[in-house]
Amino acid sequence: MSTFEYAPAPESRAVVDIAPSHGLFIGGEFRPAADGKVFKTVSPASEEVLSEVAWAGEADVDAAVAAARAAFPAWSALPGAERGKYLFRIARLLQEHSRELAVLETLDNGKPIRESRDVDLPLVAAHFFYYAGWADKLRYAGFGDAPRPLGVAAQVIPWNFPLLMLAWKIAPALATGNTVVLKPAETTPLTALRFAEICVQAGLPAGVVNIVTGDGATGAALVGHEGVDKVAFTGSTEVGRAIARTVAGTRKKLTLELGGKAANIVFDDAPLDQAVEGVVNGIFFNQGHVCCAGSRLLVQESVADELLDALKRRMATLRVGDPLDKNTDVGAINSAAQLARIEELTAAGEAEGAERWSPPCELPSTGYWFAPTLFTGVTQAHRVAREEIFGPVLSVLTFRTPDEAVAKANNTPYGLSAGIWTEKGSRILWMANRLRAGVIWSNTFNKFDPTSPFGGYRESGYGREGGRHGLEAYLDA
Ligand code: NAD
Repeated sequence: MSTFEYAPAPESRAVVDIAPSHGLFIGGEFRPAADGKVFKTVSPASEEVLSEVAWAGEADVDAAVAAARAAFPAWSALPGAERGKYLFRIARLLQEHSRELAVLETLDNGKPIRESRDVDLPLVAAHFFYYAGWADKLRYAGFGDAPRPLGVAAQVIPWNFPLLMLAWKIAPALATGNTVVLKPAETTPLTALRFAEICVQAGLPAGVVNIVTGDGATGAALVGHEGVDKVAFTGSTEVGRAIARTVAGTRKKLTLELGGKAANIVFDDAPLDQAVEGVVNGIFFNQGHVCCAGSRLLVQESVADELLDALKRRMATLRVGDPLDKNTDVGAINSAAQLARIEELTAAGEAEGAERWSPPCELPSTGYWFAPTLFTGVTQAHRVAREEIFGPVLSVLTFRTPDEAVAKANNTPYGLSAGIWTEKGSRILWMANRLRAGVIWSNTFNKFDPTSPFGGYRESGYGREGGRHGLEAYLDA
């Protein structure tokens, strides 16, 4: 049977102009690292070097914290309405530059342009608009009559949603009157540096936002710096633990947004076609590089075969390839190191006896790629059911009763998110009361909104970002 093929629909790269080298953004200016060190950032889809970026050492972190400290008294003394104006201005500039920023994000990260354009960038602007609105209303937020900012916030973020994680961190920090030093991930520094230019364009006072690029050592120097009052970290549980040890016993306030291994639970009364879309969105969105990804599918035994058949048919239609093509559903894996981790864990899945399946799918010959993958015959003891893979890999388990679904869903050291698919409202509430997860979606998945708090339990971390709750992390409340 002949089918219609998609014509290529590439988004133009011409909207971005990537400088061959980038400096650190400290005290309102760009400068090289004190010791002149640099690292390269590559496009994971083509392995092309995109730019050389300054690699901040301890002296640079020191300078950035000093700049943030110097800017704090004036920034925190501004009336909230004035701080709000800067945030509104930044939000509008982000919207004006959204096409350029989406292309830059896709180039540096490997995510499909459809997602950076339609999900990441609109949410980035929405976060700034939302927290701009809070800046002059903090005394009504429920944290006392005159809530005070903490001071200098050290913020370390991962590579999966580079600009969105920056927005989650910087918008509430500035709205509450703090100044920040942010370290983006080493594989995705470019949109944060472009954001620094937007801060300049918005006339933000020098030192209120500082961006230091580098690796884990830069991050460790930043969170350990004694001039920092608040540490906000998003990343792996392992690094989160190390940071909690560093911060323990100091006056620094800490929030940790860590990993996850979410259960997406489908009952036999769920609309199955809709559930299949939700399962696909839950694990293949952003190549599965999502902390709250629905990486464990728990399906009721009576509909398991039917659901799996439909899921495989749907997976066969996913288009994997050039992230800049507007038809692409699944882009490149962010780095060679992440690809190696996904390969190691999926090999362990097979070795432990789970059955592996991927649709026929041709992968590009350069860059880092992994086909959408499904594991059936998975037990709760398998590594693919326990460890965060952070890739396009779904582990399928079955259950018979709601109690069994709850027990299996909660059988994880993590507790970030969960999904429930059923027609019965009473069952949604019954399940939600028993699931140990910070965010629970019903009959949908991976829905984000700046007004809604997000965060985890247990090894997924503590503290909340987003919504009114997200203000608390930056207030002396
Ligand atoms: P990672 O922990 O390796 O790195 C995250 C950031 O921390 C990077 O900027 C890195 O340079 C820095 N870093 C590394 N070692 C450090 C140290 N010792 N001290 C200070 N900073 C250090 O994580 P990753 O691989 O970049 O990101 C993937 C992880 O992030 C996954 O586990 C994912 O679940 C998690 N994540 C969580 C959320 C959430 O909101 N809970 C959101 C996105 C990602």
